[in-house]
Amino acid sequence: MSRVSDPVSRALFERARRVIPGGVNSPVRAFRAVGGEPVFVRSASGAWIEGADGRRYVDLVCSWGALILGHAHPAVVEAVERAVRRGSSYGAPTEAEIELAERIGWRMPSVPMSRLVSSGTEAVMGALRLARGATSRDLVVKTEGCYHGGADYLLVRSGSGLATAGQPDSAGVPAAIAGTTLVVPYNDVEAVASVFERHGERIAAVIVEPVAGNMGVVPPEPGWLEALRAQCDRHGALLVFDEVITGFRIAPGGAQQRFGVRADLTTLGKILGGGFPLGAYGGAQQLMERVAPVGPVYQAGTLSGNPVAVAAGLATLEVLGAPGTYEELERKGARLEQSLREGAARAGVEVCVQRVGSMLTVFFTPDPVRRWSDADRSDRAAFARWHRALLEREVYWPPSQFEAAFVSLAHDETALSRVEQAACEAFAAVAESRASSDSRPA
Ligand SMILES: *Cc1c(COP(=O)(O)O)cnc(C)c1O
Repeated sequence: MSRVSDPVSRALFERARRVIPGGVNSPVRAFRAVGGEPVFVRSASGAWIEGADGRRYVDLVCSWGALILGHAHPAVVEAVERAVRRGSSYGAPTEAEIELAERIGWRMPSVPMSRLVSSGTEAVMGALRLARGATSRDLVVKTEGCYHGGADYLLVRSGSGLATAGQPDSAGVPAAIAGTTLVVPYNDVEAVASVFERHGERIAAVIVEPVAGNMGVVPPEPGWLEALRAQCDRHGALLVFDEVITGFRIAPGGAQQRFGVRADLTTLGKILGGGFPLGAYGGAQQLMERVAPVGPVYQAGTLSGNPVAVAAGLATLEVLGAPGTYEELERKGARLEQSLREGAARAGVEVCVQRVGSMLTVFFTPDPVRRWSDADRSDRAAFARWHRALLEREVYWPPSQFEAAFVSLAHDETALSRVEQAACEAFAAVAESRASSDSRPA
């Protein structure tokens, strides 16, 4: 069966592929994992995106989690308009940057000092260079299935885009560089202990998504983050929480607030920029003052702390700071989780719905997903069928089994009930296609 996508998007995709690799500027957008063609977007508002042919979809991607207020939130639009009229970039410091750093620090007590950059990838690269510089050690421990952006030494068994492409490593990454990264399974306390036992004196840092979002949503089991903290303390390594997704999403103070474990360095992105390119890394003053110009660890960026992006970030944090927002996100997430579970059960499709706050994944596997090897057992074909059925019903779900879906504050009753009804019908479509492939003559 061919794609539901509209003829306008199809024509654009063809044109795009002539001038942009795969027609997209970031791989997962190409819909390869679900076997179709991407919807080209012409505009978006609140919980809805509008495709190139004018069809409107409920959006559960929300720019991969960046848009916790939904699209084109009036407060963000106004702040951005005001900022851009005063100039789009100065390459000089501004008061708004101080304000943003202060606001990060108020929410995250472990981040009294931070450096702004232009993406999550850059935030992680800055944090890990600092960790290596501060410890004079080379090795970094990461967990299988977690994604930390596109830096060479982190493209090692790193989740959604790569897992989907069946490409555990990227071409172009020198073996010597990949060799500075040690990989352990997520939620595996013993594996971390043993890696520290063997290499403890050479490990600069452990980097982890405190709630994994890039192999689908995998919550930390009780004791996991605590064990990472304890191993780092025992061996003089730094604990880096990559909160590019979880920061400002699962609590005002991110995963460290929600789970009560302190990180030495924290990376932020996505929500921080309210839909604009912005990231940050930060930690204690003593550590952060090893960064240039005060310290020897070099890191720089022409557009770092861009005034338009900073204005969008400040406006986003301001709206998020109103009373009740996190309760609302929790409520909406829980409601969706429950109706997805019920819809799957009614259709007789075994799934495992995993959620933390407003991020969730429907794994097409009956068993709980604790780490990548569990996620990898998901029925990708069933997910692709389900995804296609959702798209036909104008629900825009992330186009990979190994991504998180995001609920925003803009997802109201109309949007949520549309998703719920479409999901029920989509589960029925999965059951039906399984039944018909079972009864096909061999
Ligand atoms: C998205 C993401 C990144 C990379 O951020 P970019 O802005 O895409 O460079 C890093 N870490 C995590 C956990 C992410 O989800």
